[in-house]
Amino acid sequence: MKIKINKKAHELPDGSTPKEAAEHAHLTEPGQAVSVTVNGVLRDFNVPLKEGDELVFLNFDDPQGKDVFWHTSAHVLAQAILRLWPNAQPTIGPPIEQGFYYDFGNLTISDQDFEKIEKEVEKVLAENHKTQRVDFTSVAEAKKAFAHNPFKQELIDQFANDGLSAYRQGEFFDLCRGPHMAALNKIKAFKVLKTSGAYWRGDSARPMLTRVYAISFPDRKQLKEYLHMLEEAKKRDHKILGPALDLFSLKEEAPGMPFIHPHGLIIWNQLIVLLREMQKEDKYIEIKTPTMMSKELWERSGHWFHYRENMYTSQIEERDFAIKPMNCPGCMLFYRTTTHSYRELPMRVAEIGHVHRFEASGALNGLFRVRSFHQDDSHIFIRPEQIREEILRLLKFIDKLYMTFGLPCRFGLSTRPDKTKTIGSDEDWEMATAGLRGALDDSGHVYHVNEGDGAFYGPKIDIQIRDALGRFWQCGTIQLDFALPQKFDLNYVDSDGEHKRPIMLHCAVLGSIERFFGVLIEHFSGKFPFWISPYPVRILTVADRHIPFAQEVMKTMHKAGILCELDDTAESVGKKVRTAQLLKTNYMLTIGDKEVENKTIALRTRDNVVHYDIDISDFLAKVLHERETRALMSPFSTAPREI
Ligand SMILES: [Zn+2]
Ligand SMILES: [Zn+2]
Repeated sequence: MKIKINKKAHELPDGSTPKEAAEHAHLTEPGQAVSVTVNGVLRDFNVPLKEGDELVFLNFDDPQGKDVFWHTSAHVLAQAILRLWPNAQPTIGPPIEQGFYYDFGNLTISDQDFEKIEKEVEKVLAENHKTQRVDFTSVAEAKKAFAHNPFKQELIDQFANDGLSAYRQGEFFDLCRGPHMAALNKIKAFKVLKTSGAYWRGDSARPMLTRVYAISFPDRKQLKEYLHMLEEAKKRDHKILGPALDLFSLKEEAPGMPFIHPHGLIIWNQLIVLLREMQKEDKYIEIKTPTMMSKELWERSGHWFHYRENMYTSQIEERDFAIKPMNCPGCMLFYRTTTHSYRELPMRVAEIGHVHRFEASGALNGLFRVRSFHQDDSHIFIRPEQIREEILRLLKFIDKLYMTFGLPCRFGLSTRPDKTKTIGSDEDWEMATAGLRGALDDSGHVYHVNEGDGAFYGPKIDIQIRDALGRFWQCGTIQLDFALPQKFDLNYVDSDGEHKRPIMLHCAVLGSIERFFGVLIEHFSGKFPFWISPYPVRILTVADRHIPFAQEVMKTMHKAGILCELDDTAESVGKKVRTAQLLKTNYMLTIGDKEVENKTIALRTRDNVVHYDIDISDFLAKVLHERETRALMSPFSTAPREI
C-alpha cells in the first residue's frame, strides 16, 4: 500500500503500522519518532494503517512529541511507585512545561526515596514493555477494572461520554486516553525532581494527594544539561539575587506588592526611558488614567461581571469603586473625549498603568506572580485595512526592544475559538486573522498557530522570550478586540463623512514590568549591562591618602552623568574588591600611589581582568559609548558576553 511518511511517498506491506513505517524510514534513534500523527491526528504506533494515510513523525524536540514522551514516562513513574508502595492510589499524571508529574492518594514519601524510585524505574525500563491500548465497551467494565481506586471511579464518571480507554505496560494498567510511545526503550534518562502536596482536582475541600515531579529524556546528555540548567537557575533566582543586590523587597504588610529600591529603580527607569524613546519614534501619544474608577465603568467593560473576584473594590459616598485590574476601560473613556477623524488613525495611545489583581496567596511568586504591577499597555485604533501593516510594525518594535537585552522572541498566533462563543462576524474574524497571519509571514519569524485559542473578542499574538538559560517566558501580547469599541461605542469620521467603528489592538510589550524586571535579573544573573546597571562604577582606595584623588575621579564620573560609588573605608583592597564583586559592579577603579602620581586608574572588569594605567578620559569615552549604544558587551571584556 502507498502511504506518505513526513510528506514523502513510501510503499509498505498492507496492514503495516506506524511502528513499522518508522523502522522503514529509519527513524529509530531514541529521540526520533516518539509520537506520530496519522492524517493530522495523534495516534498510537500499533494501529494498522490504510492506503493513502499521511504520517508525520514527531521527534522529542517537537512540543507534541515531548508531551507524548513525558506522558508515557509518567506511566513508568506510576508503575515503579506502585511496585514499591502497592497501596498507593494513582490519580492523574500529565506532562508539563518541564517534565511531568503524577498525583497519588495514600502515599507518603520524601526526598530520601527518590533514588529508590529511580532504581525501580530503571528496572521497568529494562524490561522494555510494549504499551497496549484497551478500549472499554461500557462504563461498568471500566469501573470494574479500577474498582479499588475512588479517584479513577470519579474520572470514569466524568469521561463516560468520551469513550473510555486504558493502557497496559507489563503488570501496570492505567485509565488513559493516550496516545503513548510504542515502547519504553526510548526513555534513556529519568530523574525524580521533587514532591509536593496537591489537592485532588485542585480543590482545597478535597483530599490532599502526593505529587511526584520527574523528567525524562531520550539521552543522558540532555538530562545532564537540564540538571545543569536547574543549578544555574537556582543561582540566578531573582527572589534571592534581587534582595541581595538591594533591588527590591517583598513585605508581609503588602503581600504580592513589590517595593522597588533605589538601585532597582535605576534599572526600572532605564526600561521606561527605552520604551518611551521607541514609542516616540513610532509616534505614540501617552496618557495616564485614574487608578480607581466607578462600578458603572466596570459594568460597561464587563469586568464587574467576569472579573470581580480578582478586583479590589471600595465604597465611597455610597458609590462603588474598583481599582483597575486593566488599563483598557480608562483608555476607552479617553478616546471618547473628542471626535476622531480617519486621518488620526492609526492612533497609538500608550499608558504605563499601575494595576492590581487579586491572586491567591499560594500563587504568589516573587516578581513573577504579584498582586500589584505596572503594565506597558498601548491601545491602538486603526481602520480595518491597516491591520497587517500595524501588526508588522508592532512585531518589529517588539523584536527590537527585546534584542536590546539579548532576548530573542518567538510568536504564537491564536485563532477563533468555537464560533458560537465569540462575538464579531465571520468576515471580521477572517479579515483580522488574515491580517495577523500576513504580518507574521512578513516579519520573517517562525511562529506556531494555536487553533481556536483566541479570546471570544478577537484573535491574538503571544510573545515569548528566550533567556540566557534557554527558558521561555510569556511576556507581551497583541490582542485584537472587536468587543470594547462596541461596548464603548467608539467612532471615527471616515473620508466619506460616515461614522465608523475603529478596530482596536491591545498591545503590551514587556507585559508586567515587575515580571520582566524579574526575568532580567535571572537572564543577566545580576550582571547587568552598563546602561541599566545599578552598580556601574565603584572606586576603591588603597589607603586614606588616596581619597582626595578618588573624590576627584568620582566628580568627573558624576559630571559625565555616570553613577559611581566610592569605597573609602579602612578595609583592605582585597575585601573592597570582594564587596564590589558581590554587587556585580561593572567597573572597579582602584586608586593607589601609582594612580595618584600618574593621574590614571587601575581598572578591574567584571570578568576579573585588571587593566593598569588607564587614562581617565579614555575610560570615560569608552563607557559613554557603551551606555549610549546600550551595549550588551563591555569594550574592556575579552569574553563575548558576560551572561
Ligand atoms: Zn497515559
Ligand atoms: Zn487593553
